[in-house]
Amino acid sequence: MHEMSIAQSLIEIIQEEMARNQAKTLRSVRLHVGEMSAIVPDSLSFCFEVITAGTDMEGARLMMDIIPLEGRCLSCGEAFRIKDYVFLCPFCGGSEVETVSGQELSIVEIEVE
Ligand SMILES: [Zn+2]
Repeated sequence: MHEMSIAQSLIEIIQEEMARNQAKTLRSVRLHVGEMSAIVPDSLSFCFEVITAGTDMEGARLMMDIIPLEGRCLSCGEAFRIKDYVFLCPFCGGSEVETVSGQELSIVEIEVE
């Protein structure tokens, strides 16, 4: 389950951030999880709970915004939503498509006390 190591590294980042702000309690964390980031949100939630149990981060809320997969066609420059992982431009049929969003995993907000 690779969510365990992802949760672990998220927690390390959060801990550094809390130390920098001299925060004692973690209330919530908001993540942007790309549709194509290969992360199962439920699984990540579970791992987060397991790792934070018994620590001063226990009970913190993990919120996840799922970011849709979007691409841009390199031939005509149009941006579009990629559905079912079909990397084809709906405007000109071009197959050279760069991913604009949907692969990220980032912490966008940490609420501490
Ligand atoms: Zn195109």
